[in-house]
Amino acid sequence: MDQLIIDGARGEGGGQVLRTSLSLAAITGRAVRIDNIRARRAKPGLQRQHMTCVKAAAAICDGELRGASVGSGRVDFTPGAVRAGDYTFDIGSAGGTGLVLQTVIPILLGAPGPSTVAVIGGTHNPMAPCFDFLAGAFAPLIARMGGGLALTIERHGFYPAGGGRVTCAITPTAWTPIEVATAGPVTRRSARAIVARLPTHVAERELAIVRERLGFAADECTVVAVPAASPGNTLLLEIERGGVTEIVTGFGEKGVRAELVAATACDELEAMLAVDAPVGPHLADQLLLPMALAARAGAGRSVIRTGPLTLHTTTNLQTIALFLDVKRQRSEADGTNELAIG
Ligand code: ATP
Repeated sequence: MDQLIIDGARGEGGGQVLRTSLSLAAITGRAVRIDNIRARRAKPGLQRQHMTCVKAAAAICDGELRGASVGSGRVDFTPGAVRAGDYTFDIGSAGGTGLVLQTVIPILLGAPGPSTVAVIGGTHNPMAPCFDFLAGAFAPLIARMGGGLALTIERHGFYPAGGGRVTCAITPTAWTPIEVATAGPVTRRSARAIVARLPTHVAERELAIVRERLGFAADECTVVAVPAASPGNTLLLEIERGGVTEIVTGFGEKGVRAELVAATACDELEAMLAVDAPVGPHLADQLLLPMALAARAGAGRSVIRTGPLTLHTTTNLQTIALFLDVKRQRSEADGTNELAIG
């Protein structure tokens, strides 16, 4: 089959076009060329985190690469056969380990046997699925689709030093479709404030805001102090509705008060709860590829209900459609969107 040429500037024009294309190239065996990589980002081209995604995708399927260097705006990827195995990928910066896992997990879920993947870098980064999100929100849904993702964190890693280490044991699946279409009441909730190399009052002040704003009880709130190579702080707000666990994150930053970090996360959770849909915006874009793979495997139609669609989600749908001829449907009701694939 001809090489598929993908314009990385399409839609959102960020790293997701690259990651989804890498995954689907390896899964379908289709050679790809991705041009204009991350053309709409302030620092376009392959950064270290993206380079690790490219190399990881090639490593697990004995693929051939051309043009894969930091800063490059174009890469040619000719995949080979996917191999189960034990892999370690070191980003070499605080780049998000979750984004590397996001690239390789769908591929290895279809490998001939189980694999383990260790990734070294940032474990809790803004604009990326953090370790707790993958383990607590994403993995349970993949389990419902028949796939095993056992995630463990050996070391936390925050910007700028990184150095965190996450491992994921992956058990392949023949794919079962999912349906998560109703939200219903909150059946469980908790808040955790993680701090590394920072005084615990940072975490306590965040949790005080969560109790005040959202009415969480003291025993639903936990301070977690962890070692790491550089200081870091992440607030995790976890809720379960309609059998789905969602996790909203707030990231501490130098010069930003803990109260503001918590208030922003509370705003985000309130906005999510105001919509009668169990799947939040990030989980929505991350579930599209597994849903499409279930449809490709002939397992049937998956359906999720989410809130307003993000550009990230629509771009990811468009990227998937370049590879797979799966029926997609979108219908709207009360500001919610039902996404059906298959
Ligand atoms: P780049 O900035 O490298 O070009 P990108 O454009 O793909 O990458 P984002 O649009 O920020 O980056 O999203 C990357 C991925 O991280 C998406 O799958 C998104 O759902 C996920 N993500 C972003 N923020 C969160 C969050 N707070 N919780 C969970 N997942 C998140």
